[in-house]
This record gives sequence, C-alpha cells and structure tokens, in this order.
Amino acid sequence: MAAMKRRDFMKTTAALGMGLPLLSLGGVAEAKERNVKPDHPVVVSSANGERAVKKAMEMLTKGADPLDAVIAGVNIVEADPNDITVGYGGLPNEEGVVQLDSSVMHGPTHNAGAVAALENIKHPSKVAKLVMERTDHVLLVGKGALKFAKAHGFKEENLLTERARKIWLYWKETLNPNDDWFPPPPEELDPEVRKIFQVHGTINCCAVDANGDLAGVTTTSGLFFKIPGRVGDSPIIGAGLYVDNAVGACGSTGRGEANLKNLSSFLVVEYMRQGLHPQDAIMKVCERIVEHTKLPYLLNKRGKPNFNVKFYAVNKKGEFAGGAIYESGSFWVYDKNGPREVPIKGLLKGS
Ligand code: ASP
Repeated sequence: MAAMKRRDFMKTTAALGMGLPLLSLGGVAEAKERNVKPDHPVVVSSANGERAVKKAMEMLTKGADPLDAVIAGVNIVEADPNDITVGYGGLPNEEGVVQLDSSVMHGPTHNAGAVAALENIKHPSKVAKLVMERTDHVLLVGKGALKFAKAHGFKEENLLTERARKIWLYWKETLNPNDDWFPPPPEELDPEVRKIFQVHGTINCCAVDANGDLAGVTTTSGLFFKIPGRVGDSPIIGAGLYVDNAVGACGSTGRGEANLKNLSSFLVVEYMRQGLHPQDAIMKVCERIVEHTKLPYLLNKRGKPNFNVKFYAVNKKGEFAGGAIYESGSFWVYDKNGPREVPIKGLLKGS
C-alpha cells in the first residue's frame, strides 16, 4: 500500500511537472558538493585488494562511473578460488554451504543495493548493483535474492571449491572430540588445510573519481562456518559500507557483529562530515567500538576486545586512511603516486 502510494505520488508529480522543484533543489546541493574534488582519483581497498584498486583505477582514468569501477575491481577477487573469504572458493557455513553477502553504494545518486545469504552466485556485488538499479528495494536475502539473480540471467554454480570443502571438513571433524566425526591421521591432512584457521576476511573497495564522486562495494563469504542464515555487516548499509557524496566513503572488514551494533561505516563518514581526517574518523569509531564492547566473552584479559575490525576510508578531497582496533597488516591504495600497500594504524597495542 505504502509502495503504491509512493509510486502513484511519483507518477502524479512527474505528470504535473511537480518533480521539477525537487530536481532543481538536488541540483543546487550537487553544485555545492562539486566544489570539492581530488587532484587525482583515489581508490582504497582491503589487504586482498591489489587487483581491485588497479582495475578500478584503470576504469576511473577512462572516465568510468566510480561504482562500476570498484565493482569491476572486486569481481576479480570474487572469481578467484584462492581467496577463501570472498565469492567463489569462499569458506562455507557450518553445513558446508557457501552463502555470500554484498552491498554497493553510489554517491552521486545516494542509492544502494545489497544481497545477503545468497547461494550459488559467484558475483554477489553484481546482483547487489541490480537490486539498486532494477528494484525499489535495498536488500534482498536468501532464496529471494537467488530468484532475483536468476531472473536477471545469472547462472547457478557450485561455489564450494575442493580446497574450501577440505577446510570445512577438517573444521567439522575437529569441532567436538565427543562426536562421531574423526579427522584424518595428521600425515594425511593437506598442510594447506591446517594453516588456514583465521576466521574473517572480506573485500571492501571505495573510490573517489576526478569529479569528487564517490562509490563503494563490500563483498564477502562472511564469517567462516557461520550458522546458516547468519548475515554480517557487509550487506548492511551503514555497517560494512557507507558513502555520502558530499563527504566520503568507508567500508570495513573484520568482526561484522561489532559493525552491526555500532553502524560503524556510517559513523566514520559522519565524523568525516564533521571535518575529521579519515584516519581520525576511523580511530574515533574504533574507540566507540571498544567502549561498547562489554560482553565478557568478547574481552581479553586486559578488558579490551578480543577481535579486530578494520576500516578503509576516502574523503571527497582524496584523503584516505586505513585503521583498526589493533594494528594489523596493510591496505591498498591507488592515488596519483600509484598503487601501494600502506600499513593499517591500530588504536590499541597487542591483538
Ligand atoms: N565482516 C565480515 C562479516 O562479518 C567478515 C570479515 O570481514 O571478516 O561477515
């Protein structure tokens, strides 16, 4: 009913030419936003984003829309079976089923789309963009998201690679010493499998183009061995991704539940709106997450979070930063000085 009313309203106002004042107001705001732009496009991405920033920059320098550029960038990683945290080859849920989450946000239109718990489709970020462009909605989940993807011609594929299946099986077989699943004898265990026991990973990529227009995408297979149906921060606008074309863009990787409880990416952008440099905005949000982490099972012996959350942000001027609760590795940036890895600054010492 509400949707119909809204559509009717839109039709009526368009027919009467009443859309015009709204459009011209938008135009004024946009003109103001357009006073700020970087001296060169800038792309930032998580540690697994080398190919993403390169692809996105190649497209931005040819004049591509910033959202098309960042999506094309992360599509490379979604298709890569060797990245076990994203798309094809991503680690499955506790039942051995790969469920993917992704969101996209387009600064110039302040439009967004997302999918969650999507199975059998390699490129959830492409489906998220179609949710944005070809529906009146922002988020489609599970079976509905799959039906929507198939309606748009996506083909179902098995996303569980042999490597991911072996890692999952080892996890299952070692989960409970009292159940009926036994791990293989150590000499038969694939050494690759034992190595991989991190639990988080995702790719985020955000960009500002030469006009100062921003966009971002986050895409992931989510928490390893999650409860089926668990949705993380990556497909939730404001949590794992946020873009405001007047200000900047931010995305995140790490413990999604912390971002869901703090709407962290939105908050980073809000701090940037107040004039903070992306680095300071990120650190303030990390402080907020630390303050809000009160549940004992989430605290280490020092009373600090026993998990990490990382952020990647770029503002309209092209200033950028990567930061986390705990210093950890690096992120990718591509600006006028070329593509490079930059260390992620941490709020707290230790891990
Ligand atoms: N943030 C993702 C999630 O919670 C996973 C990650 O980045 O590690 O689903």
